Amino acid sequence: MATDSGVGAGTRPGRNPRGGRSGNGWNGKGRATEAIVDLGAIAANVRHFQQVVGPNVAVMAVVKADGYGHGAVPVARAALAAGARWLGVATAEEGHELRQAGIGAPILVLGISNPDQARWVVRSGLSAVVADAAGVEALAREAARQNRPVGIHLKVDTGMGRIGIQPRQLGDDWVQALFRGRSGLRWEGLMTHLAEADDPASDFTVHQLERFLDVVEALRRQGRQPLWLHAANSAATLRYPGSHFNLVRVGIGLYGLDPFPGATGLQPALTLRTAVAFVKEVPPGFAVGYGRTYGSRQRERILTLPIGYADGVRRGLSNRQDVLIQGRRYPMVGRVSMDQITVAVPAELPVEVGEPVVLIGEQGGERIRVEEWAAQLDTISYEIVTGIGRRVRRHYLPQAPG
Ligand SMILES: *Cc1c(COP(=O)(O)O)cnc(C)c1O
Repeated sequence: MATDSGVGAGTRPGRNPRGGRSGNGWNGKGRATEAIVDLGAIAANVRHFQQVVGPNVAVMAVVKADGYGHGAVPVARAALAAGARWLGVATAEEGHELRQAGIGAPILVLGISNPDQARWVVRSGLSAVVADAAGVEALAREAARQNRPVGIHLKVDTGMGRIGIQPRQLGDDWVQALFRGRSGLRWEGLMTHLAEADDPASDFTVHQLERFLDVVEALRRQGRQPLWLHAANSAATLRYPGSHFNLVRVGIGLYGLDPFPGATGLQPALTLRTAVAFVKEVPPGFAVGYGRTYGSRQRERILTLPIGYADGVRRGLSNRQDVLIQGRRYPMVGRVSMDQITVAVPAELPVEVGEPVVLIGEQGGERIRVEEWAAQLDTISYEIVTGIGRRVRRHYLPQAPG
């Protein structure tokens, strides 16, 4: 109801600027489970990458998948304010969301846009990646129909093997036509994507960059030079100066997550936290949760927390991952269920309902990183943060002004 106190955005500092995602009038108060995103960390990470690449290379902040789960719009704004010049998304719809929020910066749709999406690419003034004649056709048709030019980045497959023309296709008619300038199309960029830039044991990146340079050189001999040349993701930006060209596409590192083991200089932006919902003291031999996979070995207290796999606490973490309470680590026990997890603490630990619990982030000098979860789950940090559920309300710590 509109008369409820505190309904809507701006009722407290750092509140999710989008307000309730469901738009149903609920202000989200009452659920302790939330993600806090430090936009100051996002800004610091942009500046770190800008410093690595130097002033003559632009940074694209990749905010696909709702900003790797952190919230695309606030992250995009923070990144642009910190000096990023491009935004990268996976789909036309994601780009459209940024435009709806009033963001006017150049946006590249990194995935292939089908003809239906081409309509939205043009309408929202996005730039598109193309790798085949049909894609160029669809965009040219839409650009003509809407009488609005569209920026095109031609993708070359130098070894990733997903999308991209093969280098030998450079001479194809549709490619040459693109270079000459088709009406409605603006040839903006030439790009490739690296498959193993994060792997210290592989030199495949060097091979890919050589293939890409061959293409660039062949074009130069034809008198063609794109405005933007780009190849690097976060890992390549940090590990291969030769991959910078004049634009780098930074995703995971923007969020302060390590693009490869041992990366330095990045600040994690995400805290995932909740509060104890239920406390009980149990005797030895007390079983907990579905499948009764945990039994207490001594008298202890079992805490129930209102967060589960639907919020992104993957079930594979059952009986393996710690949480932080009062700045110390305590183990999750029993199965992670959809909406709840359980944690065991010593019987004498003074914990009451409402006690803050940090699942990812820092508390009292102790820290649990996304990378720790990823290692437990034999996956990568990307999958953890993009898996944080929609019902976890995001709050934002503002970046310092200036
Ligand atoms: C997602 C993506 C990136 C960003 O990669 P990170 O490893 O997250 O830095 C860069 N380029 C393309 C084409 C992508 O799809």
